[in-house]
Amino acid sequence: MAEIMYIVIPCYNEEEMLPITAKALNEKMDELVGAGRISPESKVMFVDDGSKDKTWELIDKLHGLSSRFTGVKLSRNKGHQNALLAGLMTAKKYADIIVSMDADLQDDVNAVDGFLDKRAEGCDIVYGVRSSRATDTAFKRSTARAYYKILEHMGVEITYDHADYRLMSRRAVEALESFPEVNLFLRGIVPMIGFKSDIVTYVRNERVAGESKYPLKKMISFAVEGITSLSVKPIRFITFLGFFIFLVSVIMLIVFLVQKAGGDTVRGWASTIVSVWAIGGLQMLAIGVIGEYIGKIYLETKSRPKFIIDIDLEEKK
Ligand code: UDP
Ligand code: MG
Repeated sequence: MAEIMYIVIPCYNEEEMLPITAKALNEKMDELVGAGRISPESKVMFVDDGSKDKTWELIDKLHGLSSRFTGVKLSRNKGHQNALLAGLMTAKKYADIIVSMDADLQDDVNAVDGFLDKRAEGCDIVYGVRSSRATDTAFKRSTARAYYKILEHMGVEITYDHADYRLMSRRAVEALESFPEVNLFLRGIVPMIGFKSDIVTYVRNERVAGESKYPLKKMISFAVEGITSLSVKPIRFITFLGFFIFLVSVIMLIVFLVQKAGGDTVRGWASTIVSVWAIGGLQMLAIGVIGEYIGKIYLETKSRPKFIIDIDLEEKK
């Protein structure tokens, strides 16, 4: 039996895009249903993230016209990641597999065929990965590359050039639900779920209509969120820096003592400078140590699952 697939799309002020997106997805779904690859009960679920324009009216109208379309309306604007999560959690009640995608058709809908191939091979999560960033500006390209590098150094496991275009099985979404954190950076959390996963590459297009809902300011706060919600390494950096500065003060002390032995010194200067550096270094070290514990508390308060079971042979019987 073909699986029921829901395509979840967060929408914020997307009245220009919606009719185009709906048409493209409807055609794709017809094709997939016709080929018997997904169940005829599959749907497109739009999540209205508190839009100020006619987005919800359009979703409601689409739902009235065809049972292929359904929608969820959030009480207010909560941001892309939360809107997406709301969609995933709602869709998992009805669907076997859920694809998440942006409203602007930047993600090639034909990559879904590839997702389904991987699903047939037993994958629970399939990541859509951009094969090129030709349509992005040089600025976005280079900052994105630098950002992935930083995340990597921070020990965050993340799929390079993967946005939030992915397929997840129902049990993968259920596992995601066991991450109760408020600071949500989905593309960093999903790899933590595990299960058999794979990637499918696709060419990322330009936004078809409307404008980006991610201005630079939002992009920066999203990037900071990615680091601070997944890594406590910045704290370790402070500890390291404190230790380093303290070391410098010790080296200074040795140098000054050697100079004093040579007789060429200003009275009182060496002791003042060395103590400034030594105290500065020790204080920073102490902050870092306190930070380590706060970091631990931070991770504890996230109360993430300690494990997720893939196969339980008892249950299979
Ligand atoms: N979006 C949302 N809530 C927001 C901002 C954006 O649901 O507060 C949606 C938006 O409608 C789109 C997706 O998130 O479907 C990605 O936004 P966009 O395409 O503007 O970002 P970009 O591709 O420029 O990074
Ligand atoms: Mg976009």
